[in-house]
Amino acid sequence: MGFPFLYHNVLSFTLFIGSYSLIRNKILNFAPKFPLRRYGKMSTVIYPSPIFGPIHSRRLGVSLGINLLPADGKVCSFDCIYCECGYNATHRAHLKFPTRTEVLEALEKRLQDMQQNGPKPDVLTFAGNGEPTLHPHFPEIMAGVTTLRDQYFPEAKISVLSNATRINDEKVREALLHVDNAILKLDTVDAGYIAKTDRPVGHYDVEEQLHWLEVMGEHIIIQTMFMQGMHEGEDINNCTPEFVNPWLDALKRINPRQVMIYTIDRETPSPCLEKATHEQLDAIAEQVRTLGLEVSVSY
Ligand code: SF4
Repeated sequence: MGFPFLYHNVLSFTLFIGSYSLIRNKILNFAPKFPLRRYGKMSTVIYPSPIFGPIHSRRLGVSLGINLLPADGKVCSFDCIYCECGYNATHRAHLKFPTRTEVLEALEKRLQDMQQNGPKPDVLTFAGNGEPTLHPHFPEIMAGVTTLRDQYFPEAKISVLSNATRINDEKVREALLHVDNAILKLDTVDAGYIAKTDRPVGHYDVEEQLHWLEVMGEHIIIQTMFMQGMHEGEDINNCTPEFVNPWLDALKRINPRQVMIYTIDRETPSPCLEKATHEQLDAIAEQVRTLGLEVSVSY
C-alpha cells in the first residue's frame, strides 16, 4: 500500500485449486511475451500491470492475471518474510495504481485477443505485486471485470488472492463475497507469529480478523502458509501443535468453503526459512479433514 494505509494480500476448487506460490511459479515459467521483472534473487518478482499471463497449468487450466498494483514495485499491507515480491522497503512502488479505466480497457483488449486467438481462460485471477484490495476502486473494478467476464468468457471463474486486511470495509467484503473464489490468507492466529512473519504494516487485530472471516464463512477459502526455520535469530515454525491447534479452532469458527495449505516454493527474502515437510503438511491436512472441511495441499 503506497497509501497512507498500505496493506495486502488465488477457484470452485474443481476448476481452480492451487497455491499462491504455485501460481506465481506458473507465471514465472510463462511467456516471454509478457516479461516479468526479476530483481537480484529468483525470489523477487515484480509482475506486469494491470494484466499479465495467461498462465498455462494442467492443474489450474488457463489463468489470466489481473494486477491492480503499480507496475514498478510492491504495495502491500503485509510485509511477509517469505514474500516473492521481496520486502516492502526494498521494492517500493513509485508509479501510481492503474486506473479503473486502464485496468478494464487492458482486460477487454486481452479478452478480445483471447477470444480471437485463444487460449480460452478458465479463471481471471486478481494477484500480482501486493494486496489487490488496496486499490481504492477495487469494488468497482471487480464489478467491471465481472461484466467483461460475462460478456467474453461467461464460464471463466474469478478469483482473488488477498491477505484479508481490508475485509473490515463493507464494500471490499461485498465485492469479495461475489467472486467465485475469494482466497484469504490466515497463516496463524498467534499475534506474535503474525508480527514476526506476516508483519502487518498498519492496524491488525486477530480477533477482529476472525470476526469478519466468520461473517464471510462458507463463501471464502482460507489459505495458510506453513514453514519453519529462522528469521533474525528467532525460531520460525507454525507447524507445531502450539500453532496448529488454535488455527484449527479458528477454522471451526470460520467454517470456510475450503482450506488451502501450502509451503515455501522458492527462495525467500529472509534467507533461513525452510519448507514444511510433506509429512507435516499431510498431518495438518488430516486434522482439517476431521473438522469436515475440504482441504488442498501444495507441497
Ligand atoms: S506474500 Fe505477504 S507481503 Fe507478499 S504480497 Fe502476499 S500478503 Fe503481501
